[in-house]
Amino acid sequence: MAQTTPAAKHPKGLYVLFATEMWERFNFYGMRAILVLFMTKALLFDHAFASNLYGSYLSLVYLSPLIGGFMADKYWGNNRSIITGGIVMAIGELVLFACGSLYQSSPQISSVLFFSGLGLMITGNGFFKPNISSLVGQLYPHGDKRKDAAYTIFYMGINVGGAFGPFLCGLFGDTGNPADFRWAFLVGGIGMVISVIVQKLFQAKYVVDTEGKQLGTVPEKSPKSLLSPIVVVLGMTVLALIFIGLFYLDAKYNYLFYLLSACFIGIPLIVFSDKKLTKIEKEKVAVIFLICFFVIFFWGAFEQAGASLTFFASEQTQRDLGFFTVPASWFQSLNSTFVVLFAPFFAWFWLKLGKREPKSPFKMALGLFLLALGYLWIAFGVKDVQSGIKVSMIWLVGMYALHTAGELCLSPIGLSLVNQLSPLKYSSLLMAVWFTANAFGNKLAGVLSSLYPDGGKTTSFLGYHMSNLYDFFMLFVFMAGAASIILFLISSKLKKLMEQ
Ligand code: GLN
Repeated sequence: MAQTTPAAKHPKGLYVLFATEMWERFNFYGMRAILVLFMTKALLFDHAFASNLYGSYLSLVYLSPLIGGFMADKYWGNNRSIITGGIVMAIGELVLFACGSLYQSSPQISSVLFFSGLGLMITGNGFFKPNISSLVGQLYPHGDKRKDAAYTIFYMGINVGGAFGPFLCGLFGDTGNPADFRWAFLVGGIGMVISVIVQKLFQAKYVVDTEGKQLGTVPEKSPKSLLSPIVVVLGMTVLALIFIGLFYLDAKYNYLFYLLSACFIGIPLIVFSDKKLTKIEKEKVAVIFLICFFVIFFWGAFEQAGASLTFFASEQTQRDLGFFTVPASWFQSLNSTFVVLFAPFFAWFWLKLGKREPKSPFKMALGLFLLALGYLWIAFGVKDVQSGIKVSMIWLVGMYALHTAGELCLSPIGLSLVNQLSPLKYSSLLMAVWFTANAFGNKLAGVLSSLYPDGGKTTSFLGYHMSNLYDFFMLFVFMAGAASIILFLISSKLKKLMEQ
């Protein structure tokens, strides 16, 4: 991550996008912070089912941008897509608010509302997220040195929202009374409305290129008929219905796991069977797939945050301070808070290392290592603790600190790495592969969280049996630890393949 200097002043548009994204992430992470709590304490789903749903939801959240990005590039432009996506997400929160208000009196309507609300969040996010990220880069001319710093500042916006969302939604919604969860959805929805208003008010004036020309407008060749409000509303309704269906079907059949596995076998076969690609190009593509493979394991362990680790915060962590009980959802603010605190240190540290700054594969291996260390820390905290006894908050806090350090090593380099290694012909497909790897990681997170051993139940994964929390956390130590060691061992080979 580059550092800003006083000379590198940023366009005002960056701060508009910062605010828009901050409020959207406030909404997204605020809702996510109470999601599994709402499922288990209000809707009374068991841990395994709630975990699987969590994985399905997040997985589709990473797949929907493939459609939202495509639609914006071809037909709607970024601005229209961001506003439309934002409104759809705000409606999603309102639907969830209704679900949280009706789950006792009309359980059947409430379960339809639950799937619909999350389906709307998936659809809206698909239009919002890729388009706002792309606008950040468009503010600067090609090759502008300020771009890296701009994304670092933007990442701060993401995490300020990610820290305050769980905090405020938890404060209002995670009170110990399940009927209050709905307030968290409402607070999230208000955040989303603020985001849309900010973008709508300031995009035309400030989100402009260096010549003052507005960015994110409708592409020239886009047919006018596709822009009419009726078509937009109809289109979004159809898409939302599709995503609600896809989400519901995954809750029933878990097909996403198999579909995503098939993608990771099928897409490499397509690319590698292309005779026009040179050996060097193929080797670079192979690096992308290998990196994706490791990234899947990273997110699979990291994104336990909103699932098993929230069960752990809620049920196994001593949160009573005497005068106040810390809501379990607040622990989900920690990751973003640590990002804001640690990112300047990382920027300084990489700069200080100068030429000795490690290359991407090595940093990714380090990220996986820190993730494993975080789980080792918490495994140590629960070792030999009798079931039913709650442990200190220090174990979760320390673990999130280590996980965040891991995220800062691994997460910011992914996109640029894919950009840099893709042959032009496959650049969009390989970018889609990158998103798909994130989707797969999140699906895996749900699948693994469903193995959370509670109530004396023993679960197993690939022959490894887990009958207590120590065994469960050690699964992630082994998984991330093994991935890290392998990546450390092959990192110099990967570096050579990348640089040829
Ligand atoms: N926390 C970041 C965000 O919400 C990155 C998440 C990710 O890449 N999986 O944008």
